[in-house]
Amino acid sequence: MFFLLLLFRSPPPKLRNADKWSDSFNDFISKCLIKDFENRPFSADLLSHPFIQQVPQDTTQESIVEQLSLRYVQDEIYTYIGDILLAVNPFISLPIYSEEHTKRYMHSRKSDNPPHIFAVADHAYQMMMHNKRNQCIVISGESGAGKTESANLLVQQLTQLGKAPNRTLEDRILQMNPLMEAFGNAKTIINDNSSRFGKYLEMFFTASSGTVVGAKITEYLLEKSRVINQAPGEQNFHIFYYIHDGLMASDREAEYHLKPNTYYNARESEYGGEACKIDDTRLITIVSELLGLDYTDVLESLTTTGMVAKGEVIIRENSVREAQDARDAMAKALYGRLFSWIVNRVSSLLKPARVDSSQDDCYTVGLLDIFGFENLKTNSFEQLCINIANEQIQYYFNQHIFAWELEEYRNEGVDAAEVTYIDNRPILDMFLSKPVGLLALLDEESHFPRATVTTLVEKLNHNINSPIYIRLKSNSSTFCIDHFAGKIDYSAEGFLEKNRDRLPMEIMNIMRMSDNKVVKHLFQTPLTRTGNLQNSSSMNSINSSRAGSPMSTSGTMGRSGSHNSVNVTSYNSRSSSMGGSKHASGSASMTRMQQTVATYFRYSLMDLLNKMVAGTPHFVRCIKPNDQKEPGNLVSERVTTQLRYTGVLETTRIRRQGYSHRINFSDFLKRYHVLGFRHDEAVSVKAESCQRLLENIGLTNWALGKSKVFLKYYHVEYLAQAYEAM
Ligand code: ATP
Ligand code: MG
Repeated sequence: MFFLLLLFRSPPPKLRNADKWSDSFNDFISKCLIKDFENRPFSADLLSHPFIQQVPQDTTQESIVEQLSLRYVQDEIYTYIGDILLAVNPFISLPIYSEEHTKRYMHSRKSDNPPHIFAVADHAYQMMMHNKRNQCIVISGESGAGKTESANLLVQQLTQLGKAPNRTLEDRILQMNPLMEAFGNAKTIINDNSSRFGKYLEMFFTASSGTVVGAKITEYLLEKSRVINQAPGEQNFHIFYYIHDGLMASDREAEYHLKPNTYYNARESEYGGEACKIDDTRLITIVSELLGLDYTDVLESLTTTGMVAKGEVIIRENSVREAQDARDAMAKALYGRLFSWIVNRVSSLLKPARVDSSQDDCYTVGLLDIFGFENLKTNSFEQLCINIANEQIQYYFNQHIFAWELEEYRNEGVDAAEVTYIDNRPILDMFLSKPVGLLALLDEESHFPRATVTTLVEKLNHNINSPIYIRLKSNSSTFCIDHFAGKIDYSAEGFLEKNRDRLPMEIMNIMRMSDNKVVKHLFQTPLTRTGNLQNSSSMNSINSSRAGSPMSTSGTMGRSGSHNSVNVTSYNSRSSSMGGSKHASGSASMTRMQQTVATYFRYSLMDLLNKMVAGTPHFVRCIKPNDQKEPGNLVSERVTTQLRYTGVLETTRIRRQGYSHRINFSDFLKRYHVLGFRHDEAVSVKAESCQRLLENIGLTNWALGKSKVFLKYYHVEYLAQAYEAM
């Protein structure tokens, strides 16, 4: 606990200095393709946009990558594809985030400025105010692609847009990310500042004036195994190094008993079946003192296990392995609960007062920044969860961009032949369905005490019948999954233990008796396994939102207040105390006591999706240009792969070949009446009038739906030009 107290005394150093990015901005070169036709008129200079002119109508992936490459070497890292923002990681500080840029992208039209992450913040904010709807910005991309940087820049811009009523709130909002990153990020092989948790940040704005009044963080699946073990070349969470390096040498030793860096992690390594003995009992003294525990209690909880047999408590001695597992479980539980506690504390400091009294007073912009898709040399349970979460985000993207597009065409009676896409739903089904989805099988096996990695993989091999699951005969402890982003081999070693995530009752009990108020508080709830997956406040939100949502597989949930809908698959074939119950907040903790990580993870995904579909989405796709973290080097193959598997290329094709814009009859006639009718000509709102107008203007290849005009991108450019020329 000492490091927490320290942290609040002297905040951790920022990982990067955002102020460095403050020079003037390069001249305007690019403009955007935009879809939100219904809300704003187009500017004529959209037509002179070199990106549009150079990319032929039958856009090939080569031409897109070529354009991205040309732009990238000129430090133009942002590009719009339809209404998606592509952000190619520059791996260098660019002078494009200055105060001047902040101002330039406030209350502006997307087409007035070069593509920018600030424009996405502005657009979401304007849509929230204009349409009176919650918004949701989904940031995705591989590990190291730039999601967290983008999220931080969005928070920065949204804070400016929301003109915080006082400096304290503004400071709190801006300091939240460095704090969260200190505890939740770590150096990995791929990324020096890799997020080891998923974060959904909601910023609250008043409905009347758009003033920012608070924020709330929900965390998902902290990789707490990192506390006890890091892969070669990787590090523990940043906070440990900050504390260590930030302390005065004298305090470090005398008050906190910390040794030089090199001392740690070099003293492990022998397992044996024999009963254990603590070699260096001074360490127990230090741990007991720092955590406010009794020395004997700590010693006994690590070296013995109590069992109830025939009504009697029998104490047996732990083996070395068991003692080490108990120690590791204690460290993981402490860190995981502490992390959740910090998240809750931060959220409560930022909690908007208004939200308590009346939800309707505020709208939110949500920002999703999760850990990116990972394919390491050895992929374990953590990578599996991370990659499933990314599958879920991809599914949501597909649903919004493609499925909705298809539905719209069909509803309007327009030919939908052009809309095809790679649906990753079968992959999610393979993971999440019951009773033979991979996670359900893992859960089942986790309940057998004698299960081993071999029995687990055998079970998976035997039961999963899907082309996405590939059996690897050569090795009985591995299997391969054909993810949307590529094939990945997983080693199932440790899956069962990580999924069970047991915390010995002895440790739970002694922690509850701690003299340290915070430690005691952390262990009051029986969140034995997965407390870090989600904080308790969001837990309640799972239950309340689920009470009204369909629990049958593949239910369709209306997007609140929105004109479209997205399928939310719950993968929960039977009602449970978590899912079906309306009074679940009380029972949730009881249920959680028995839950495995996999079970809780499923609920977390549902919760996340429920949050996301409640807002109008905006997508930021971060692209990693190379694996060496080199500025100015865009490797075409790397970028092509990312564009392909994220569906960006498909989006472009559909936007180009399909009808990229649609506008309802009434708005179309109102806006373009002047281009095709006499100014005093009265026109009734119906398809025939739109047809006459389109023919009078001289356009071809458009389509008329039941209530909307469907236009191709070049129609829009033509109309914009004609409109501006009036
Ligand atoms: P992970 O999934 O591992 O959390 P991520 O997608 O969140 O990865 P970031 O941590 O945001 O990746 O970015 C990795 C690094 O790339 C940053 O630490 C920074 O050095 C660099 N970077 C990303 N975006 C930018 C940017 N806009 N300007 C300058 N540098 C950037
Ligand atoms: Mg990150």
